[in-house]
Amino acid sequence: MISSVLPTYSRAPLSFVKGEGCWLIDETGRRFLDVAGGIAVNVLGHAHPALVSALTDQAGQLWHTSNLYNIPNQQALADALVEHTFADTVFFTNSGTESMECAVKMARKFHYENGAPERNEIIAFNGSFHGRSLGMISAAGAEKLTKGFGPLLPGFIHVPFADLDATKAAISDKTAAILIEPVQGEGGIVPVPDQFLKALRELCDQNGILLILDEIQCGMGRTGKLFAHEWAGVTPDIMAIAKGIGGGFPLGACLATERAASGMVAGTHGSTYGGNPLACAVGKAVMNIVADDTFLTGVGEKAGLFRQKLEGLVANHPDIFEEVRGSGLMLGIKCKVTNIDVVNAGYDAQILTVPGGDNVIRLLPPLNISNDEIATAVDRLDQAATALEAKQ
Ligand SMILES: *Cc1c(COP(=O)(O)O)cnc(C)c1O
Repeated sequence: MISSVLPTYSRAPLSFVKGEGCWLIDETGRRFLDVAGGIAVNVLGHAHPALVSALTDQAGQLWHTSNLYNIPNQQALADALVEHTFADTVFFTNSGTESMECAVKMARKFHYENGAPERNEIIAFNGSFHGRSLGMISAAGAEKLTKGFGPLLPGFIHVPFADLDATKAAISDKTAAILIEPVQGEGGIVPVPDQFLKALRELCDQNGILLILDEIQCGMGRTGKLFAHEWAGVTPDIMAIAKGIGGGFPLGACLATERAASGMVAGTHGSTYGGNPLACAVGKAVMNIVADDTFLTGVGEKAGLFRQKLEGLVANHPDIFEEVRGSGLMLGIKCKVTNIDVVNAGYDAQILTVPGGDNVIRLLPPLNISNDEIATAVDRLDQAATALEAKQ
């Protein structure tokens, strides 16, 4: 008999009832170190006091009005995002997928309004992930996402990851935009070389094409800069964000330059809940803490420590692990045994990680994880690896 929850996830037999910082506590009182971070969502851990008070204060005032009226929290969060990024304007959503849908609609509308409606194709990369709507499974293109769900949305061209010649060859007078994650997340923590992002920016400028970045997983301080593209010293025309910006409250956004957004006039796009007062109260509190140079420098330092300890872990378990990769606190360990087995052994050692593509386990901890917690995480991964070795 089908479960009352549609069984689209194979869930671990764990149920958490409380969170405190980097820790999740289950029904039996066991404490798990959470370096999964709700898949890069809990950027400030669980029950951060500033986020709890932002949410509860707003909850006592006003929950929802719709976008028929001005929403002061939304205005303030948009101002903060504009102040700290390339963007001139922001559309708020409830999820990453919706942010990406807005990005693609915006790029097509830009060319339509500029008298080039035939420019509606988006070039995307193999191994990418942009969400689960029909549009976004079409954008990513992988069979594991699309099989059985056709017909797909036309207008997406797929090229090998970070392959400049293939990208150039895919450009035509129908190209509207190039879409890329600066660090592939679901694909297995694969950073795009800075040189490649720079080259994409040049290609876009030379050909009148828009550059769309999906920073839903790698943005919001994750790599040690507020947004991952800052490492390459280039800016996009349009950027989708979500996950970390809400710190656990559903919130996403599509950021854009004034030029790229010029077609999105009143009536062209909307959302009932997007930018709701509760979500934006939390988003503001997250931005207050994360968009701070000292905080971001701290992320870089913790990332250096974590990575160094993980290199040691990999060296100590050559039959289990192959390599460490990633950027900042967006870390992946490529496994030699099945990654799901490592994740499961982690559960026994009371540490939470996330499987990813290319047989990787992902570590996406809260950005305020302490040095002691980093040491504990590596100890517990060591325990998990030792248990797996004993079974071999
Ligand atoms: C999670 C994710 C999405 C989809 O976000 P949802 O909030 O699940 O809709 C899109 N792109 C990337 C890179 C992601 O990591």
